Amino acid sequence: MKATLRAGFVVTAVLALCGPLSLAAQGTPYDPEARLAELGIELPEPPDPVANYVNGVQTGNLIFLAGKGPLRSDGTEVRGKLGADVTIEEGYEAARLTAINQLAVLKAMLGDLSRVVRVVKVLGMVNSAPDFVQQPAVINGFSDLIVEVFGDRGRHARAAVGMASLPRGQSVEIELVVEVAPEGQVGPGSGSLELTYFGAAGWRISDGQVVVLVDPWPSRLKYGGGGHPDDARPDFARDDLAWSDTTLIDSLIPEADYILVHHGHFDHLGDIPYIARKTGAKVIGTETTAMILRAYGVPDEQLYAVRGGEDYQFEGFSVRVVPGLHSALDEKHYFDSRRYDENTPLQAPLRIDQFIEGGSLSFLARFERRTVLTMGSMNFIEREFQGLEPDILLAGINGSRLGLYDYDRRLLEATGFPRVVIPTHWDNFRLPYGFSQQANVERNLLPFIETARRVSPETTVITPVHLEPIRVH
Ligand SMILES: [Zn+2]
Repeated sequence: MKATLRAGFVVTAVLALCGPLSLAAQGTPYDPEARLAELGIELPEPPDPVANYVNGVQTGNLIFLAGKGPLRSDGTEVRGKLGADVTIEEGYEAARLTAINQLAVLKAMLGDLSRVVRVVKVLGMVNSAPDFVQQPAVINGFSDLIVEVFGDRGRHARAAVGMASLPRGQSVEIELVVEVAPEGQVGPGSGSLELTYFGAAGWRISDGQVVVLVDPWPSRLKYGGGGHPDDARPDFARDDLAWSDTTLIDSLIPEADYILVHHGHFDHLGDIPYIARKTGAKVIGTETTAMILRAYGVPDEQLYAVRGGEDYQFEGFSVRVVPGLHSALDEKHYFDSRRYDENTPLQAPLRIDQFIEGGSLSFLARFERRTVLTMGSMNFIEREFQGLEPDILLAGINGSRLGLYDYDRRLLEATGFPRVVIPTHWDNFRLPYGFSQQANVERNLLPFIETARRVSPETTVITPVHLEPIRVH
């Protein structure tokens, strides 16, 4: 069986190259035009070039924008020299106004500002008196707005220089270089998905319209042993009361529409009582999962108890529930048939060990134009995966898979050799974010990538980094 190539289906881990991300930006979907609206900024008609040149030239995936200045909507412009007749504050505002004019040019060229992959380089020229040296403070008016609108994708290399004079006496002139995605590949309705790994089996997946969380567990408590000696956080025993790091969760997860829960163990379900109540998201999981959440006061109308086999249509999103199996823990001796139902007395807060498995599921999450098959365990029922043929497979890749027969090959074959496979549940989830996961990368991921290369040469395996969004087109 050979994987089919779909034309135009390319992958970029857009933000993997951008260095560490601010936590505040993590949970927010990338939507620069919505950001502009939030800031109360309406883009003007782009200013016409004043001579025989164009506003911008695209070559390859780069756009070089011509220099623009602080032209106001009434046709006047901010004029005068910094250090003589214009203050730094006025210069800052002039640079900000110039940013708005350049965004108008970009919008006219691109149609949709979410096609901006990266603002690469900015040259800021400041009309300066001979002894004026604070050009960076002026051009910050440009840079600050660009980062406000594009987030980390707006962070750019920059020069801010003084000029003896500028055309018509305008106070600033700014040009920039922008990397863009091909038309139709980014933005609402384009089919591109953004996936962010929370660690363990946890994900945030969004197509720009709906936000789906999968087993989100940012708390990553040090429980049941196996933590790191440098981790100063408290130890939890399995019979301690469950606890969630709500400050961390709030910084990472501002909103969610749906939460998919593979099974009820603490490293999957532990933070969902808080997240479900906070976001009002619809939660789809086993009856055991639903009973635990109900004990925490999650309203019944948010809870969808399923057993596997259901195929539910929601608004802008559908999900097929796939019956599954838990990882073969404890050298294949793990087995837990306990279930909770409406007669089980459960009093929140629960102990960590009251988060029982309650049966295991996978999900085929269908977004407008892409499907994602999620796994929460290193196990699956082969015939249940056959025919699903997801665009993206979140493949359970931890050591316990080695107890299964020919796991890597069977998994890739049963799922139809997906174009994109992203390993999940491979990290040491007792370590907080920021601790090295290199040992687990080497132990779990590298052997899998090796097998995938051999068995499914057309598949791209993306190694996720905690909290760094991956964009799949
Ligand atoms: Zn489990």
